[in-house]
Amino acid sequence: MDCRVVIIPGDGIGPEIVREACKVLDRVGQVYGHSFSYTEILMGGCSIDAYGVPLTEEALETAKAADAVLLGAVGGDVGNSRWYDVAPNLRPEAGLLAIRKGLNLFANMRPAYLYSQLQAACPLKEEIIGSGFDMVIMRELTGGLYFGDRHTETVNGLRTAVDTLTYNEEEIRRIAVKAFDIARKRRKKVTSVDKANVLDSSRLWRAVVEEVAAGYPDVELKHMLVDNCAMQLVMNPGQFDVILTENMFGDILSDEASMITGSIGMLSSASLNETKFGLYEPSHGSAPDIAGKDLANPIATILSAAMMLRYSFDLDKEADAVEAAVRQVLAEGYRTADIWAEGCRKVGTAEMGGLIAERIH
Ligand code: NAD
Repeated sequence: MDCRVVIIPGDGIGPEIVREACKVLDRVGQVYGHSFSYTEILMGGCSIDAYGVPLTEEALETAKAADAVLLGAVGGDVGNSRWYDVAPNLRPEAGLLAIRKGLNLFANMRPAYLYSQLQAACPLKEEIIGSGFDMVIMRELTGGLYFGDRHTETVNGLRTAVDTLTYNEEEIRRIAVKAFDIARKRRKKVTSVDKANVLDSSRLWRAVVEEVAAGYPDVELKHMLVDNCAMQLVMNPGQFDVILTENMFGDILSDEASMITGSIGMLSSASLNETKFGLYEPSHGSAPDIAGKDLANPIATILSAAMMLRYSFDLDKEADAVEAAVRQVLAEGYRTADIWAEGCRKVGTAEMGGLIAERIH
C-alpha cells in the first residue's frame, strides 16, 4: 500500500518525536511491504517565524491532499516567547484550531490504556485497577457549548452571561457512527454519556444514538449520565470500551481518563472526519522545557502513528505490531526519563524510537 502522509513536526520536542514515529513507520513499511511518503509542512511557532502566521493556506491545502496527517506539537514557552506577543489568532495554537476546522475534524478519539509495566504511575488503588483498563473516549469536537452563540449583557442591573448548547441530529449521528465503527474494531461496547435527565440536547443525543445502534446489532450500547461516568472512571475504569460523548463532557472526561493512566508521554490521539482521513498527534504539548535534549518520550507519537495505520489505512495487523513492540520494549525495562523507575534502563528519545522499530516483526 502507498500511504501519503503529511507530517507537521511543529515546535519544541515536536521534530524529535515525529522523527521517531517516521522511523517506526518506515520499519513497518519494510516488514509489511508498504511505502510511506512524507511531505512536511510548517505549523505553529516555526510557521510564524517563516511566514508570519501559524498556518498558511498552502500548508492547509497540502494537508488536505494527503491520506493522513501526523503532528508532533506546536507552541512555545507561553510566558517567555515572542510568539505570544500578538493577537490570539496569530499565536502558535491558532494553527491547531485552523487545521481542525479546515479539515472538518469533528471526531476526537483519545485512548486511555494502562500498561502493566507502568501500573505504579496510576494514581488509583490496586483493587480498583484490577487487571487494568483499555478504553477510548470518542468526543464530538466541532459542536455543542463551545461553538454555540454566547454573549454577556446586563439584565435588570445584573451582569448576565449566556452560552448556548446546540446539536442537530446530523452532528450526533456522524460521531455516533464513528464510535460504533471503532467499537467494531475493539471489544464491541459503546457507553454513550449524556445528561438526558436534564438537557434537551442530551435527550436528542440519546434518541439518535439509539437509531444508529440499530444498525450495529453486534455492538452493545449502554447509556450513562455524565456525573455517574466521572465517578465510574475512577471506581471501575475496566468496564469501559468506547465512551461516546458530546464536546464539553468529552473535554472533561478525556482529561480524567488520561490522568488515571499516569503518564502523559504515552497518550496518543486522533481527530477524524467523515472519510478515512485523520490527524494523529500525541495528547501532550511541545514541552519546551526539554526540547532538543533527547529527553522526550516518543511513545505517544509512535502510538498515534499506530492509530493512523489502523483507522486511516485499515492496516490493523501492522498497528498491532507497533503496539506489541511498545509493550515489548517496556517489558524489557527500557524507559525514557519521564517514566523511569528504579531498576529500569534509561534511554533517550532516539534510542527509544530505534528499540521500538527494531521490535516490529
Ligand atoms: P506539555 O504537555 O508540553 O508539558 C507538560 C509537562 O509534561 C512538561 O513538564 C513536559 O516536559 C512534560 N512532557 C510533555 N510531553 C512529554 C514527553 N513526550 N516526554 C516527556 N515529558 C513530556 O504542556 P505545557 O507545558 O502546558 O505546554 C507547552 C506548550 O505546548 C505550550 O505552548 C502549549 O500551548 C503547547 N501545547 C500544544 C499542544 C498541541 O500541539 N496539541 C497541546 C497542549 C499544549
